[in-house]
Amino acid sequence: MKHWIYKNRTHVFLATVIIIVTIAPLYAKISAYMPYYALYTESSPDGTYTRYIILRQFKHNATHAFLYVNPTTLHTGILKHPQGTIVKDSLENIIGQCADTQYAKLYQKALQKSKRMFNAGLTHFDINGTIISFDLCPSKRAIDSEFIEQFIALQSNNLPVPVVVCISGKWIQTHPEDLQWLKSLAYNRKLDITWVNHSFTHFYSRKLPVKNNFILKEGTSVSREVLQNEVVMLEHNIIPAIFFRFPGLISNQKIYEKVMGYGLIPLGADAWLAKGKKPVTGSIILVHPNGNEKKGTKLLLGHQQAGTLKNPVSLSMIGSIKQYSANTTQVKQHSL
Ligand SMILES: [Zn+2]
Repeated sequence: MKHWIYKNRTHVFLATVIIIVTIAPLYAKISAYMPYYALYTESSPDGTYTRYIILRQFKHNATHAFLYVNPTTLHTGILKHPQGTIVKDSLENIIGQCADTQYAKLYQKALQKSKRMFNAGLTHFDINGTIISFDLCPSKRAIDSEFIEQFIALQSNNLPVPVVVCISGKWIQTHPEDLQWLKSLAYNRKLDITWVNHSFTHFYSRKLPVKNNFILKEGTSVSREVLQNEVVMLEHNIIPAIFFRFPGLISNQKIYEKVMGYGLIPLGADAWLAKGKKPVTGSIILVHPNGNEKKGTKLLLGHQQAGTLKNPVSLSMIGSIKQYSANTTQVKQHSL
C-alpha cells in the first residue's frame, strides 16, 4: 500500500513538473556576468576570416559564454564554443584595431556627442529612410497593442516592419505577457525588432529637477543600470544590440562616457513626436507604446496614413545598408 501511494505521488509530482515546464517559457540562467573585451577571429576553410569584438563574458546556464558584436554588420550574438582565437585587450585598443569598421565609426561619432544633458548621442542617420523607436519605460499600463496592430496594418507591404524596441528591465519584469506578445510579432514576421537597452530601473520622479532625475538621480549605479538590464534581457532570450538609450534621453558627460566605456553607443532621437518634433529623412523617431504617451503613437499613425513617413529601416542593418546622398543622388557607403 505504501509503495502504491509513493508510486502515485511520484507520478503526480512528475506530471506537475511536466505541466510547469510546458507552460513556463524556457529561460536561461545568466550568472557571473561581467565586461570582458577581446578581439575574436574566426577563420573559414577558404582562408577568409571574420573579426568579432567580445564585450561581455558570463555563464549561460552552465556554459561559459560571450556576448559579441560583429563590428562590420553591428550584429550581436552569443558565442558559446569559440573555434577561433580570442585576444584580450582594452576596449580602446580593440576599437583602434577595427577603426575601418562601422561600429568604430559610429562609436567615434558618438564620443563627440556626450556633452548635452538632453538628447546626447546619435540622433540622426544619413540614410534614405527613418528609424522608428518604441520606448518601453516602466509602466503600470499594458502595452498599447491597439496602436501596434494598426501600425503593422498600415505597412504598405507584407514585410516585417523594422522597429527599435528600447526596453527597461522593470517593464520586462512587470509585463511578461506583453513581452511574449511582442516577441510573437517578431516570430511571426510582423515586426523586425532590434532590442536596445533602456536601463534596468529607469528611475523617474515627477518631483525632482531634471539634473537629479532619471539616471542622474543621486546614488544611481550606472553599471547596474547597464549590466543588470543586459542580464534581464538575455534571461528573456533577448540579445541586446550595441546601442543604449538613456531614460528620458537625459545624461551627463561623466555617465555618458561611462556607458560608452561598456562599448555601447548612446542613441538619441531627433523626432520625439509627442514633443512636437517632425520626422524627416534619416530621423530617429521616438514614441512610447507603453500606454503612457498616446499623443505620440497617434501622430505616428497619422504620418503613416498621410504617407509622410520615409520607409522604416532596421537599426541592426545600419552597418550594411547603402547610404543616400541628397546632394549628388549618389549611393555611397555609410560614413557616420
Ligand atoms: Zn524611457
